[in-house]
Amino acid sequence: MRHRIAVVGSGPGGLTFARVLHRHGHPVTVFERDASPDARPPGGTLDLHEGLGQLAMDKAGLLTKFLALSRPEGQAMRILDTDGTALRDWRPRPDERANPEIDRRQLRDLLLGPLDVQWGRAVTRVTPGTGDGVLVHFADGKQETFDLVVGADGAWSRVRPAVSQETPRYTGVTAMETSLDDVDTRHPDLARMVGEGSMAVYGVNRNLVAQRNSGGHVKVYAQFRAPLDWHAHLDLSDAEAVRSGLLTLYEGWAPAVLELLRQGAAFAHRPLYVLPVSHTWPHVPGVTLLGDAAHLMPPLGAGANLAMLEGAELAEAIAADAGAAGLTKAVATGPADLDAAVRAFEERMWARAEKWAKITTAGLERLVSPDPAEALAVFEEVQPS
Ligand SMILES: Cc1cc2nc3c(=O)[nH]c(=O)nc-3n(C[C@H](O)[C@H](O)[C@H](O)COP(=O)(O)OP(=O)(O)OC[C@H]3O[C@@H](n4cnc5c(N)ncnc54)[C@H](O)[C@@H]3O)c2cc1C
Repeated sequence: MRHRIAVVGSGPGGLTFARVLHRHGHPVTVFERDASPDARPPGGTLDLHEGLGQLAMDKAGLLTKFLALSRPEGQAMRILDTDGTALRDWRPRPDERANPEIDRRQLRDLLLGPLDVQWGRAVTRVTPGTGDGVLVHFADGKQETFDLVVGADGAWSRVRPAVSQETPRYTGVTAMETSLDDVDTRHPDLARMVGEGSMAVYGVNRNLVAQRNSGGHVKVYAQFRAPLDWHAHLDLSDAEAVRSGLLTLYEGWAPAVLELLRQGAAFAHRPLYVLPVSHTWPHVPGVTLLGDAAHLMPPLGAGANLAMLEGAELAEAIAADAGAAGLTKAVATGPADLDAAVRAFEERMWARAEKWAKITTAGLERLVSPDPAEALAVFEEVQPS
């Protein structure tokens, strides 16, 4: 029996879900708010872990392509003191495949493949329990009905209110993001300082992280503790005003490090929000969540990985249920079995997400901490030997 399945959101979680269902020959409708795949910049590089994001790519039949595109050298990690002295300089072995990096755009294109995403379809809410299924409401006033609606629509999910009243809370840490292009030719000193992977400098309650993407693109994140309205007297659209504010905030740091802020183009404000460490909900037939919509956590290398694995696992469970029902044809039990598959998925997701939410929440406390030695200790704990 073919269930009517929709996923809201074409981020890493939603696309992996749809791609794995597609691989199993099960139809799925993908609704995405953005007008097109390139409607906005895709964001920084992602590292896919062997047992999480890479496992999901395997389930999607895309692991070989991922490994061919990804950058194992991007796992390199350098830590500098605020005076510019190198404290740690870790480089992966050429065959190190634990967490290779991939640009988000490349990952998205791999996952998109043959999928037919409905772009420009912003969902405003979903209504479960309508008799015929779950009603999806769109910003243009239209409605469609499905047996299962999966909310993979990120931090500010419009699907989430159908199952939970929780909303993200501010962590007390904010980030300003900037970027540099063509670093190897335009900023060779910065290119050397950043290296092939990431570079981080930890100060008191603030840090500066630079990450190399492909094509000589470097993303820079200035993260610091501040109240949410810290920029009340600053025009965030004025790059020079933001730059000057940040240079004041990081005063005393090595000029070579601050050059990352001096050379950055535009700045984007990214306050860090989280959902509760253990976010569960009473099961609602016909609606579930995955990825950031279910368990938004600090951005310490887990969110996309979890979203992807959840997408792959839920898709496999649905495909297995549909396959079993197909074998028995008229005896197919349909949405009742689908519901059991979704319940089992949720239990598994909640347990794994809770573990990672604890790790990343504690990690953020230590990486943006009054004691910069804490950040170095985190590095020692997670560093592969
Ligand atoms: C600076 C930074 C660095 C990070 N680095 C890493 C990393 O290295 N590794 C890692 O695993 N994670 C990382 N993360 C976390 C990761 O980006 C997220 O956890 C991940 O993108 C979540 O995927 P998702 O599919 O759940 O949601 P999203 O990626 O947020 O995708 C949601 C999609 O839903 C769409 N959407 C939203 N609302 C609607 C609506 N109403 N209707 C229709 N569509 C809608 C959005 O347009 C979007 O396409 C990082 C995060 C940040 C901020």
